[in-house]
Amino acid sequence: MKYVPEKQPIYGQSLDSLQNRFAEIGEPRFRAKQVLDWLYKKRARSWEEMSNLPQPLRNRLKQEFEIAPTKRILAKESSDETEKLLLEMGDRSLVETVVIRAPQIGVGQKNSRKTICISTQVGCAYGCRFCASGLAGWKRDLSVGEIVSQLIHVCHLEDETTQRAREEIASFDNIVVMGMGEPMANYENLLPALRILNAPWGLNFGARRITISTSGIVPKILKLTNEPEQFRLAVSLHGATNDVREQIMPINKRYPLEELIPAIERYASTKGRMVTLEFILIEKINDTFEQAEALSKIALKLNAHVNLIPYNTVPGLDWKRPSLTRQDSFYERLKRKGVSTTIRREKGHDIAAACGQLKLKSKQSS
Ligand code: SAH
Ligand code: SF4
Repeated sequence: MKYVPEKQPIYGQSLDSLQNRFAEIGEPRFRAKQVLDWLYKKRARSWEEMSNLPQPLRNRLKQEFEIAPTKRILAKESSDETEKLLLEMGDRSLVETVVIRAPQIGVGQKNSRKTICISTQVGCAYGCRFCASGLAGWKRDLSVGEIVSQLIHVCHLEDETTQRAREEIASFDNIVVMGMGEPMANYENLLPALRILNAPWGLNFGARRITISTSGIVPKILKLTNEPEQFRLAVSLHGATNDVREQIMPINKRYPLEELIPAIERYASTKGRMVTLEFILIEKINDTFEQAEALSKIALKLNAHVNLIPYNTVPGLDWKRPSLTRQDSFYERLKRKGVSTTIRREKGHDIAAACGQLKLKSKQSS
């Protein structure tokens, strides 16, 4: 399904595309930079605020572009660590963006890091058996403007709640593309969106602080390898052998481990960066001794970091979170093998776990 809004979202425009549009309508190209400065540096919310633009141009922009491509329905603080923004798209689809504050180890709560988890699709077509996002299937891809605007909402929320001057760069530390949807299945909109966030004329947010999480769409991992940016890559592995992975992730039939692992290896060696393997622990499915052994081998071969995530219960699904003892012995086995690994237990603290709970919901149940 494709949704075509009445007006183009302004947050979907790049400097180039806006300059071209201005040239077409007989406006000087430098005006494009002025508009983007208003949006990203001064956080303007209306065309009226753009006082250095001639009034006729402001009127014209107002007719052609939507300055608020999505609507914030509510921002709910679910705990000290996570805050969810529920956003409504022009076609009334709902998308969640999560703000996660993780305290820095050894440093006080005040110096906590702030990570923003963004969505890329409404629903997801990949149907991983443990995941809430995949339950209702795929509805549509988010547009470039809809992806960018999730971060703009976070900036606006900060502008409302803090005293600091607007003319500051974003105050968050990381962006993770781990919300609803499979980012690599919306590559065409994801990359331009991330480039807007990254651009000096945009949010000026470093590519090294942006992590893309994928269930393992091999051709897109290879494509990302050839892009100039140094995005971080996280792969949702969740099974260390084909038979186990296949049971819980249908994508594994299409791209089995013997194709996925070399693709990850290529990404890691080309970019010179450590890749993260996400591994949800599900009782008696993938938390066994054999899986820990197989996962260690993969992680050591890839020199990857393993992030263990005790499964979060999803209503309607039968899977169980393993006991603390089972979680511990899995973790210890990896450690003993020399694998760089982390496990998070506190509710809401873990980024992938907090993001992994996004699903399609109706307005009433939100
Ligand atoms: N489609 C992408 C990104 C979104 S999923 C991907 O699969 O990587 C984001 C993360 O949340 C993934 O690591 C996913 O496996 C995890 N997740 C999904 N459901 C979860 C659950 N019930 N408990 C814990 N983590 C979950
Ligand atoms: Fe889609 Fe990722 Fe959930 Fe799998 S884990 S259904 S790919 S969002």
